[in-house]
Amino acid sequence: MSEELNPFKIAQQQLDTAAELMNLDKTAHQLLREPMESLNVSLPVKMRDGNRKIFQGFRVHYNTARGPAKGGIRFHPQESIDTVKALAAWMTWKCSLANVPLGGGKGGVICDTKQMNDVELENLSRAYARGFAKFIGPKTDVPAPDVYTTPQIMAWIMDEYSEIVGHDEFGVITGKPTEIWGSEGRYDSTALGAMYVLREAAKLHKINLKKAKVAIQGFGNAGGFAFDLSKRLGAKVVAISDSSCGVHDSKGLDYQKLADAKKKVGELKNVKGYDQLTNEELLEMDVDILIPAALESQITGENADRINAKLVLELANGPVTPAADKILFERKIPDYPDFLVNSGGVIVSYFEWAQNTQNWYWTEDEVDSRLEAIMVKSFKSVIDTQKKYADMKKKITPRDAAYIVAVDRVARAMKVRGWY
Ligand code: NAD
Repeated sequence: MSEELNPFKIAQQQLDTAAELMNLDKTAHQLLREPMESLNVSLPVKMRDGNRKIFQGFRVHYNTARGPAKGGIRFHPQESIDTVKALAAWMTWKCSLANVPLGGGKGGVICDTKQMNDVELENLSRAYARGFAKFIGPKTDVPAPDVYTTPQIMAWIMDEYSEIVGHDEFGVITGKPTEIWGSEGRYDSTALGAMYVLREAAKLHKINLKKAKVAIQGFGNAGGFAFDLSKRLGAKVVAISDSSCGVHDSKGLDYQKLADAKKKVGELKNVKGYDQLTNEELLEMDVDILIPAALESQITGENADRINAKLVLELANGPVTPAADKILFERKIPDYPDFLVNSGGVIVSYFEWAQNTQNWYWTEDEVDSRLEAIMVKSFKSVIDTQKKYADMKKKITPRDAAYIVAVDRVARAMKVRGWY
């Protein structure tokens, strides 16, 4: 039988495993297996030839027991309601594990931004804001950027939403440019948070980061900043890829040089002067740290046996399937889960929302130190839970432990609210 790669089915399987381990109440489990509500809107958008093209847009509120839904908007040609549902579920666990007062949501549009010019992108972003104006808001659902959406897109959505409600509503969306009260430190917060997890994990697993080799799949917002920031820890990035291919240098790649070259020619496959490799080869490299930072289901039951890293750090959402999880665990390769590793983005998004709703702004140092405190605490809660289960003679993965912490908090909130 072929492996299940539907991201929502995977999210449900992960929850089921945790529910069994923690003996979760059956009604709570049932409530948490499906989103609370979702909306699908057809968005007519004026294109450069003057015609309207209809795009399909989605928004899911997975669970709001602990606060308003929070989650990015993804613009991607392969977007689907099941991907959005999975990402919304993972946002629920992410906000809960970080212990911030937000629930989980997500949104998306099926579109190919590479084929669209700026005017079309602005029209689509404003259409999204109009289509979902009744579903989002600073007290109900606060979107943010995700794959192929940018601070500029957040600004257009904020502007359109403000027009609709009749006043400026900066807190309706996060990841905005700082000119309209985006938070200091938001741009690289996902990767910075991941670096705090890497630092703590390396201590635990006795990996000397000063000698460590790192491979990163994905050269976007998350992967690109992780590349740049890993030098703060002394680690050497030896390979990185985008959707076109990967490049490799065993002596270490220079972030600025490669970022500038990629900016000039668009895709890594057009950057000259480096050894190239495929995305499959990158994942299987003999490195200390492997950071998948692109899309879902990259490490599966098919290739998990060939992963050679000492530690996997999931910067992308859902890059490791349950079948691969099992194989990595058996092979004693620690794999730190997405909703722990990449939670820095939503944590600083929470800071942005808190600053917008209070009109009280923080410095980048204040943002960073508060982020570090939460990341270290979240990592510790995962390790403590693994230890607690080990004491009960149950070996659980870091993902299971993170689920147990996160699901328990959401279930307890639902319980005291009288939802079950
Ligand atoms: P992005 O659009 O900035 O970058 C995505 C990168 O992945 C690009 O370099 C693209 O070329 C590459 N890519 C696409 N398909 C690929 C493939 N098949 N093989 C290899 N590379 C491929 O997106 P991002 O914001 O960096 O997000 C990447 C991942 O991180 C996603 O899973 C996203 O949900 C997750 N994430 C991002 C943030 C954030 O703040 N940006 C926060 C949390 C999670």
